[in-house]
Order: sequence, then C-alpha cells, then structure tokens
Amino acid sequence: ARMDAASMTRSTCPYCGVGCGVLIGRDASGTVVVKGDPEHPANFGRLCSKGTALAETISLDDRLLAPRIDGREAEWDEALDLVAERFSEVIADHGPDAVAFYVSGQLLTEDYYVANKLMKGFIGSANIDTNSRLCMASSVAGHRRAFGTDTVPGLYEDLEEADLVVLTGSNLAWCHPVLYQRLVAAKTARPEMKFVVIDPRRTATCDIADLHLPIASGGDAALFNALLAEIETRGAVDRAYLNHVNGFDEALAAARASDPALSGLSDEQIAAFCDLWIGTEKVVTVYSQGINQSSSGSDKVNAILNCHLATGRIGKPGMGPFSVTGQPNAMGGREVGGLANMLACHMDIENPAHRAAVQGFWQAPTIADKPGLKAVDMFRAVAEGKIKAIWIIHTNPVVSMPDADAVRAALEGCDFVVVSDVTDRTDTAKLAHVLLPATAWAEKEGTVTNSDRTISRQRRVLPAPGQARHDWRTLADVACRMGWDAEFSWTLTSEVFAEYAALSGVAGAQGVDFDISDHAAITPSEYAGLAPFTWPLGPAKKGGRFFADGQFHTPDGKARMLPIVPRAPQSAPSADYPYRLNTGRTRDQWHTMTRTSKSARLNQHLGEPYLEIHPLDADALGLGPADLVEVTSPEGRAVLRVLLSDAVRPGEVFAPMHWTAETASAARIDALVKAVTDPVSGQPESKASVVALKRF
Ligand code: SF4
Repeated sequence: ARMDAASMTRSTCPYCGVGCGVLIGRDASGTVVVKGDPEHPANFGRLCSKGTALAETISLDDRLLAPRIDGREAEWDEALDLVAERFSEVIADHGPDAVAFYVSGQLLTEDYYVANKLMKGFIGSANIDTNSRLCMASSVAGHRRAFGTDTVPGLYEDLEEADLVVLTGSNLAWCHPVLYQRLVAAKTARPEMKFVVIDPRRTATCDIADLHLPIASGGDAALFNALLAEIETRGAVDRAYLNHVNGFDEALAAARASDPALSGLSDEQIAAFCDLWIGTEKVVTVYSQGINQSSSGSDKVNAILNCHLATGRIGKPGMGPFSVTGQPNAMGGREVGGLANMLACHMDIENPAHRAAVQGFWQAPTIADKPGLKAVDMFRAVAEGKIKAIWIIHTNPVVSMPDADAVRAALEGCDFVVVSDVTDRTDTAKLAHVLLPATAWAEKEGTVTNSDRTISRQRRVLPAPGQARHDWRTLADVACRMGWDAEFSWTLTSEVFAEYAALSGVAGAQGVDFDISDHAAITPSEYAGLAPFTWPLGPAKKGGRFFADGQFHTPDGKARMLPIVPRAPQSAPSADYPYRLNTGRTRDQWHTMTRTSKSARLNQHLGEPYLEIHPLDADALGLGPADLVEVTSPEGRAVLRVLLSDAVRPGEVFAPMHWTAETASAARIDALVKAVTDPVSGQPESKASVVALKRF
C-alpha cells in the first residue's frame, strides 16, 4: 500500500542492532503497514526481510493479556503485591544478593533504567544481568580494558567511507542486513572498495568478499597478533599516535611470540590479509558474535583493538574497530547499566566516586558496591539455591542460555520465579509462579540505542491489549510496594527518560563521555517528537567519533594495548565427540521466534531446525539430504534435519539457535552448548561446542 509518510508514525525496528527507523500506519482497510523511514540515519528507508514483515507479527492470538499466579488469572494488584512481598521477604531473610533480575536487550532504555535503579540503588545488589551478556559482553570488556570506558569509537558512515572493511565473526548479510545493504551500495558506488570476511563458514556475507579467510574456530587472536607483528615489521606503526598509548612493546612481544598457525590459515592467506590491512589506511574492522561468544572473547577484541591503536586508525573517518551488537537495545542496556558489572550511564561500579554520585542522585538508601552475578553464574546460583527469587523480563533463558537443560532445572527448583513477557508460550514462561503481561512493539513507548550510538524513539501506535502494561511501570509499581514510592513515582515514560538524561549529566561531571543531559528537562511533547540523535552531544564532538585526538578515559588518559596470548576453545573434539558445533542466526528469524514465527513469509526461509554438515561427513555417517540426525554433547541432545552444505568444513557443523521446545521437539541448540565463559567478560562460548552425530 502506498501511504503518505506524514500520516505515519516514526518508530524503530525491534530486532537487530542496526536500529532501522520505520514508519507505521494504516492503509484504507485499516491494516497496519510498516515501511522504512527514509529520514532515519541508520537505514535511510531500507528494511530487511524481518523489518518488512513487522506488520505480520502484531496479532494478539498468542498474547498474554492478564497477570497469572500459579496458572490462574489474577488482578494486577494481587500479582504486584505478591511479587513485592516475596522479594521483600527473601531480602529480609537472606540479604539482597538472594534476589536477581535477568533482563534483556529487548527492553527499552526507560524499562532498563527503572530495573537497574531498583536493583542497584534500592534493593542494594548488582544481581541484574541481561541477555546482552550472551551478545557483546566481550566487546564491553575489551573496550573498557583498552579505552577505560565501553565506547564504540565509530559511526556507520565509516563503513561506507572505508577503503577496506574487514568483517570478522560477523555474518552481516543475515544478522545486520541493512548495514550489509549499505556496504553493497557503497561497493557499487566505489568498486575499488575491498572486503575481507573472516569466518570458519562460507556465509552469505562472503558474496561481497574479495578475500574469505576460513579461520579455525577460536583462531582470531592468532591472526590479529600476526597482523600486529607484521604492522611493526613493515614500519606501519603510527609512532606519533603511540604517545597516547601504553603497552605497545608488551603487546608486540606477545604478538611475535604467538603462533600464526593457530589461526588455521596458510602463510599465504595471512600474508594476503596483512597486505590488504596494512596497505589500506582507511580500514574498519567489524566484529560480532564470532569474536564475542568465546572463552577468550575479550582477548580477541583486544587483539583487534591493538592493531587499530598501533596504527592510529581509530575514530577517524573511514577507520576504526567496530563492534556491531546483536540486539535492538543492547547499547541502550550498556548505557543505562543493565550489566551486573556496570553502574549506570557508563559509570563504574567499582569506582567509589561514581557510586557516591549515583547514590546521591537517586537519593538511594544504598548502592551496590561490587559487581553482581553475570548470566551464567546467576543461573548457577539459582540452581544452588543461593538466589531464591528471580524476575526474568523479555527473554527466554530456558532456550537461549548455554547448558539450557540445567537452566530449566534451576528454574524448576527456584522458590519464586516471575516472568514478564508478551506471551505465555515460551519455555521460560511455563516455569513462572507469576506471569506479568507486557506491552509489545508498536504498543510501547521509549528509546533504544543502536550500534553506532544513535538514540531513537520507539512509538506507540496500538493500544495496550487486555491488561498488558509497560515494563517500567510494572517495575515501578513493585518498587512502590516495597516502600520506595517517592523515588519511583513517574507517571509518564518521558519523565523516566528525563531522569535518565539528568543522571547522565552526573556521569559527564565525573568525566564520562556519556552525557545526554541536554535532554534532562525534556517535556512530554518534546519527547513525543524526539528525532534520532547520536551521542556525544557536547559542542566539540557532537554526534561524532571518539579517540582520534588520543584522549582516553583511563587514569592517565592513554589507551592500553594488551599482550594477547591466543587460547583455543575450551572443548576440543575427541573420539566421543568428534565434531565442532558452531551456532548462530538464520536470516529471517529472531531469537526464540516469538514474533518472527508469526509471519508465514519469514517461516518459508529455513522453516525448521537443521544441522549444516559437509557432504563428506554426511557420507561417512550415512546421512542423506533431509534425514534426521541426533546431535549429542556432554550437556544435552537435539534432533535436527540434515542440510548438506560445503559452506561448513569437514569436521564442523552449524545449527541455528532459534527453535524452542514450543516450536519444535528436541531442537534447543543451547542444550548442547557447554556453559564455559570468558574469564573477563563472563560471555559464554556459544560457537565452539563438541558433539557426536548419529542418524536418527
Ligand atoms: Fe530491523 Fe535489523 Fe532488519 Fe534493520 S536490519 S530492519 S533493524 S532486523
């Protein structure tokens, strides 16, 4: 349907970290229509398959429309009273660390803000973690180690301005499709632009690659160490920029000591990569889950950052490392303090001055003074009975956490599980003592931050169905019942945003870059019309890049290069489990499919759970196309459809992570994944499990 943009409502796609702007309206028959917003700086009108199918996902047939207590419908007052009472009891009897919130990059920033304030400032624990822990925690850790803060230096336009874009551990074509479309358009306009794709699989992203490097699982740090050594050998170090950097000699020594063969690449392949990278000044290195979801994810990130710092190729047009996040508001969650090891507004939980500033601003009775439990440890503490009450908001850990069967068992044994969601048809919702109905995309109000620090509004075009409520309001209602009415008394979403913006001014006063306090006095009507903006907002850097000036947020103002010793994945293939299992997304599904599986169009693309396997391996196992294969690991089991493909290498298999017990039997891939984590970031190693295969 052709519609006039002026009659449509501007909002943001709820899926990936590209953060595309959308226009939502109704056609003459009243049907909701969604199209790309030509004025949004992330997508300029483009949408991918998931974005264009958004209108097909808003039906109410599977929605949770009223609170439930132990399976029966309840009034909001009764449900909220019960949640407040049980959380208060546990805190009184066992202390604040006996409760936890496990939240999500699906939350809007305002929801996140209230959850974080309640847990860290009022309950007095930092046991709030987010499924972003599974997504980009290693990037956060790498940024903080190198820059002193979790700051993404660049902007999307740098990818288009670069002469070389390196994509490592990123299937951008499927996972961030509009950004990929922007790159394809840039290549069309400037055919001399070059692309390197570093991935064990030959993914759809390789269509744009001048060079595909089929790296060994976990081999990235060895490759970037080899690059750093070669940067120095070829005299490509930016000595002037090194005045702003500590640790070059140690990082170089470690790079020289590391064995490039651990990358699994030939000398010729490594040389070709170094030729391109070193020979091209304007280079952006894009990385995503292939780097982050690793037991050495933080080190891989720092190996990448080392190369950009050594060459001064950072924060300048067309240059820099670029972490692209998986979720729509993963960056907002980072900014607002949704991670167990962050405070709020990029302030540091381990910094006494930051803690005092936040506590003073909140007028809070207490403030968490140590990091809380990260996702994997949080569910272990639930299993051990140390956490006795948990509130899970918009995420499905029974499907998405590693060792997912153990997470299910932990929740089954937990004294009190609260789940807020838009549907009761998730594997996690089934285990809730209290289920709280939430508003969904197109019904809720708030802001999100995309991968290049652009903050955009999500806007409401549909009424809240049944008794569904905004999450920030539900959280605030519980806080009021726990005795903190004055501090959680907002009536409008815009008031939550204004308070958050004011708190960012406190961060700014502490020397943190995240300062959006220009919006601290925002009125409801200004909030209604808020156009996308990219932080920082200060006059010097407005909407710009970071670190080209060599100013970092470490105590001495210098960046840190780290000596990186590459480490292999923790599990190695063996006689019992001879295959390496890689996991990831498909093009047309999102997370555990609660929304995207409602679209018949999206279900047509790879419509059932499958295992991508090389024909040679399939032959050896007597497996033919579309056979069923039983996949077992030390942790669990799944049964999948065989998809023959030479895009995976012999000995390696790939399975998507979307299917649930609700949508398919025995296809929860994370039941196969071992719960080992990066020691710095706590991010699980989701892409390097070991499995055995047998015809089913
Ligand atoms: Fe939505 Fe990401 Fe697709 Fe954009 S690229 S339309 S944000 S899923």
